[in-house]
Amino acid sequence: MLVQSYHLEVFAPPCAPGAERWCAKATLADDIGDALPYLNATIKGAIPKGLSVYNHAARALTWPLRVGGHTIAVRPREIAISNLVDKDAAATEMQRVVGLINHTWERRAEITPSIEMRQRLKPMEVYKLLPATNCKDCGQPTCFTFALKIIAGEVELEQCAPLFIDAYREKRDKLIALLEGAVN
Ligand code: SF4
Repeated sequence: MLVQSYHLEVFAPPCAPGAERWCAKATLADDIGDALPYLNATIKGAIPKGLSVYNHAARALTWPLRVGGHTIAVRPREIAISNLVDKDAAATEMQRVVGLINHTWERRAEITPSIEMRQRLKPMEVYKLLPATNCKDCGQPTCFTFALKIIAGEVELEQCAPLFIDAYREKRDKLIALLEGAVN
């Protein structure tokens, strides 16, 4: 087992003291830096492209979770999770992420590690390829909000029905290519 033990802290987001959502930080007893390229390869295959971020030099990997709307950030001696409802959820979610890391490490012989760097898409890049009519069909108040939620992994492109009519084919194709190829 790679992650043997950790110290868990749960706190209000520094930018929003008093908020009803919580952040959790696990300080790891062991350095898990060697596992990051394997985790990067695993996440890259499981999370829509363009939504996870990996910087091999900085040894940092982050990715969004649609369920719960969390963002997970992993560094060699730290795991951070955002947007948790309470302390019990923080402990449960942290156990889940630790389980994923340990499982990935145990399977490393079957995984081709990846040090491919990826940057998070910029909201304006996505927005420019949406219809920009603010029609609200997707349930969001504006196309820009939809762009933000695409990047956070909280909505699917298919929820923008207008994008799938012929008039927007070119934008749609470019946006799909952008989401699939957000690699620098
Ligand atoms: S459905 Fe598409 S065009 Fe309409 S507001 Fe949502 S993102 Fe914009």
